[in-house]
Amino acid sequence: MTASAAPAPRPPVTPPKLNPVRVHVPEEGVAERSTDFREILHAYSKEDAILEAKRCIQCRRPWCVEACPISQDCREYIRLVAADDFNGAAKVTLRENPLATCLCKVCYHYCEDSCVVKKKGVPIAIRHLKRASLELGDDDLAYVASAPKHQRVAVVGGGPAGFQAAWELGVRGYAVTVFEQEQLLGGLMQTIPAYRMTNADVEHDKSRLRDLDVTWVTDTKVGIEFPPEKLLEQGYQAVFISIGTSMHRVLKVDGDQLPGVLPALEMLKKVNRGEPVEIGKKVIVIGGGDVAMDAVRSSLRLAGSRDVTLVYRRGRAEMPADPEEIHGAEAEGIRFLFQKSPVRITGNGHVDGLVVESIELGPPDAGGRRSPVPVAGSEETLACDTLIVAVGQRADLRGFDAALDLKLTSQGWPEGKGPGFATSIPGVFAAGGRSVVYAMGSATQAADAIDAYLSGLRGEPTGPRPDPFGEPGTFQLPPGYTTPIRV
Ligand SMILES: Cc1cc2nc3c(=O)[nH]c(=O)nc-3n(C[C@H](O)[C@H](O)[C@H](O)COP(=O)(O)OP(=O)(O)OC[C@H]3O[C@@H](n4cnc5c(N)ncnc54)[C@H](O)[C@@H]3O)c2cc1C
Ligand code: SF4
Ligand code: SF4
Repeated sequence: MTASAAPAPRPPVTPPKLNPVRVHVPEEGVAERSTDFREILHAYSKEDAILEAKRCIQCRRPWCVEACPISQDCREYIRLVAADDFNGAAKVTLRENPLATCLCKVCYHYCEDSCVVKKKGVPIAIRHLKRASLELGDDDLAYVASAPKHQRVAVVGGGPAGFQAAWELGVRGYAVTVFEQEQLLGGLMQTIPAYRMTNADVEHDKSRLRDLDVTWVTDTKVGIEFPPEKLLEQGYQAVFISIGTSMHRVLKVDGDQLPGVLPALEMLKKVNRGEPVEIGKKVIVIGGGDVAMDAVRSSLRLAGSRDVTLVYRRGRAEMPADPEEIHGAEAEGIRFLFQKSPVRITGNGHVDGLVVESIELGPPDAGGRRSPVPVAGSEETLACDTLIVAVGQRADLRGFDAALDLKLTSQGWPEGKGPGFATSIPGVFAAGGRSVVYAMGSATQAADAIDAYLSGLRGEPTGPRPDPFGEPGTFQLPPGYTTPIRV
């Protein structure tokens, strides 16, 4: 009897080495950048982009892709950048991301939070490598529609969700009309200051939809005299409502109507349009989110003084703003006053102060956030000549039929309660999102549902979208990817 041969020893597996240090992203110095609206971050050079991309260990399970609300195949564009194939990287980027020029500048990069390299150091600069792929590769591509479906879809609202739905449905061969109440598309992205992104970025992304059957109708408000559900009687077979949160919330304290009290949304929009905004020399901004960050940093650039203070009722750890923005504001010299809550606004004909009271943080509420508790007798007055209010946004639902039975999310945008964001009126869907890429992710989900609805499918998925560049087959994530997340 012969003994069976022992199995050959497996070669030792050497885990890939993680380089924890990110290649420096070029940025304007604090002194230069905080006096005007010049762009703060600059693109990588070709050499630096390749160096940074080579830090990616090309994980077998791409945590980064799984964390992205639109399942952007960032692992693949990083691989192509590392191989010096910037044209290929641009195409991969644009294959599932029609707002890539905007997102490569303002996405909150959920992918980077999940990147394995973060366990040892600074995650791969995934968002910045997206920018490198577009700026160093050929990004002047045009999306291609598949065979016309001869069915029309109306999209109400030209923000990120409406834009994404128009793209998703356009590449599938639907004729799409987008109705936007403002003169410019982009929704709340039109309020993001020019030191982060500009309208030219939105226009560049839009130009790639030039060959799709998408009609953009601006300066047209759907609502009171033009109800969205009536569009179904006007030759549209489905309607997608993506009206987001175009109105500001008010502070609701005495003095909130005084001249010199400005809603942050209006102020930021005006600045971007080049319209005059009256900012004094002593500015207070109330709020702790991204809008407040954009308001303090924009005020600093407009105020003609360095006296800009942010007042927030919770602590630093509770601030919902992007940490990158908080660091940027701190570096530029913004003063932060935490745990102070507005009581009333003072002034005789014009704002001259904000009365605040101190706050102690109580036990966490249902959402896990520590609830603010006022400290008795702690009132004080902070002098100011401009007060900017950034305490949230809400949707303008005037003219939207109650029969739609829309749900208002905690951050204010309306959405349908049914599967695929279907509303209670058949053929009408509604969605939005808490950031640009989340709004896009929910629009993809709604577009899938609209496609299924118009294809006569009930509850069954329609299958993957066609390749948006008209290449054979449908677009599929490569093997090894888990189910893309849906928001
Ligand atoms: C100052 C600021 C900075 C931000 N910074 C970032 C950032 O850096 N990164 C990020 O990811 N997110 C950021 N956000 C959040 C992001 O902009 C939003 O989450 C995103 O735009 C939501 O997209 P949406 O399409 O759901 O809605 P919206 O962007 O609100 O778009 C809705 C659109 O519908 C239009 N509309 C409304 N009602 C009607 C009507 N009746 N008829 C026709 N049109 C209508 C509106 O004019 C608007 O254009 C920021 C938001 C603000 C305010
Ligand atoms: S879109 Fe945003 S979350 Fe997705 S890969 Fe790009 S930077 Fe990351
Ligand atoms: S998780 Fe990080 S290291 Fe892994 S593939 Fe994605 S970017 Fe590369």
